[in-house]
Amino acid sequence: MILNNIEEISYITAAVLFIIGLKKLSSPATARTGNALSGLAMFLAVLVTIVGRTSVTWEWIVIGVAIGVVIGSLSAYFVKMTAMPQMVAIFNGFGGGASGLVAYLEYYNNSGGLITPATSLSVMISVIIGAITFMGSFIAFGKLQGFIPSRPILFPIRNIINGVILIATLSTILWILVDNTHLTPIYAAITFSLILGVLLIIPIGGADMPVVVALLNSYSGIAAAATGFVLENTILIIAGSLVGASGIILTRIMTKAMNRSLANVMLGGFGSQDGSSSPVLQKEERPVTTASASDVAMILEYARSVIIVPGYGLAVAQAQHQLRELSDLLKPKGVSIKYAIHPVAGRMPGHMNVLLAEANVPYDELKDIDEINGEFQRTDVAIVVGANDVTNPVARTDSSSPIFGMPILNVDQAQTVIVLKRSMASGFAGVENELFHLEKTLMLFGDAKNSIEEVISETKDL
Ligand code: NDP
Repeated sequence: MILNNIEEISYITAAVLFIIGLKKLSSPATARTGNALSGLAMFLAVLVTIVGRTSVTWEWIVIGVAIGVVIGSLSAYFVKMTAMPQMVAIFNGFGGGASGLVAYLEYYNNSGGLITPATSLSVMISVIIGAITFMGSFIAFGKLQGFIPSRPILFPIRNIINGVILIATLSTILWILVDNTHLTPIYAAITFSLILGVLLIIPIGGADMPVVVALLNSYSGIAAAATGFVLENTILIIAGSLVGASGIILTRIMTKAMNRSLANVMLGGFGSQDGSSSPVLQKEERPVTTASASDVAMILEYARSVIIVPGYGLAVAQAQHQLRELSDLLKPKGVSIKYAIHPVAGRMPGHMNVLLAEANVPYDELKDIDEINGEFQRTDVAIVVGANDVTNPVARTDSSSPIFGMPILNVDQAQTVIVLKRSMASGFAGVENELFHLEKTLMLFGDAKNSIEEVISETKDL
């Protein structure tokens, strides 16, 4: 009785910590505390479950924890920021797979008609969603890592085939509800779901994978919550529901910021071939104005207000520390510096915030799109560092453009625009950027890190 009470109180404490942790993750200033609180909540939940519920011997638990700690710590230290989406993908896959496996084992141990129809239903939900998440996440990982071609793999009548397999998968639920005395329906469900996991994800292009990863994250939460019902474990239900809800909210934020529907992403076929920059197919050679590092240093010397617009290229070049150094040089000269953060700049939500935080850029200089967009017209210089689509004015004007309607940063309204990139290649959406052809725009071609280093050395010489 007392043990039960301690367990329930600990679970409620963990749930509250999860919720406070999630809330704190919504701002860069509190994100570290949020992460720590959520970690503490998970530790508490695992500890209480191990002490109170498990029938497994300690040696196995210690081995499991040791393996998890080693993998988790190594990933945290060594996985590069640009590889974060694939790391999240693989962790989601394991989460979904683990939930499905636990639910299956619960059914296996109590099979032979001992299990209630409600529990059978939860088992099937967990197994089906868990297997789809497991397989889908590994395909997403493979595409992002380049093991599988990241271009959309489209084959005829795929939607019909997917529909048939989906119906077959759902029929296994009816089957088990009618007859829960044997394991065939569960094995059929696992097989169909693994196939679905592959077929649903291969038509989607590599660059859309982060949206898919957010969606699969939500699925892994639903699978965990369903397993919570199977095990009658409150914290698993709560934590799973939080992951399910936050994953779907994140998916919605991302698709909204790209002005795409979820259906449009899931049906596949969007984006450049491999999700990286691709040469723009130009009908004609259009002129751009180029600048040297010393021109840029001179312009910045006379500027009073500067907005820096980071994008995917900043992550590729790993130029965040140089960017910070440049702002540190300019601030004592009386230049006001702000960073304009677009919600889908880079290749995952929060990509730019994390990069800039790594270089200790003060949080109060990071402004989101709604906060900063009105300021561009009062700004002397906007420096675009490896950003492209999120600055493209055609999103406002050209209804035939694939990015039409996507909210963009009003960089074109600044007095002078400086763009740092390597070539005239397009961004993820494969669209030519009108910003580069404006009279007020100067292109500084080269790797962003090298270019900023040159600008720093020119600024020091002034
Ligand atoms: P883009 O992908 O539009 O453009 C990135 C630019 O960076 C390229 O034009 C490239 O040009 C340049 N670049 C690449 N490497 C370097 C380098 N070493 N030095 C300097 N420049 C470099 O990036 P944005 O951040 O503007 O936009 C993100 C895009 O990704 C949006 O279309 C968004 O919808 C999409 N997306 C974002 C997700 C997210 O969650 N953040 C998820 C899925 C998609 P060049 O090759 O000439 O150097």
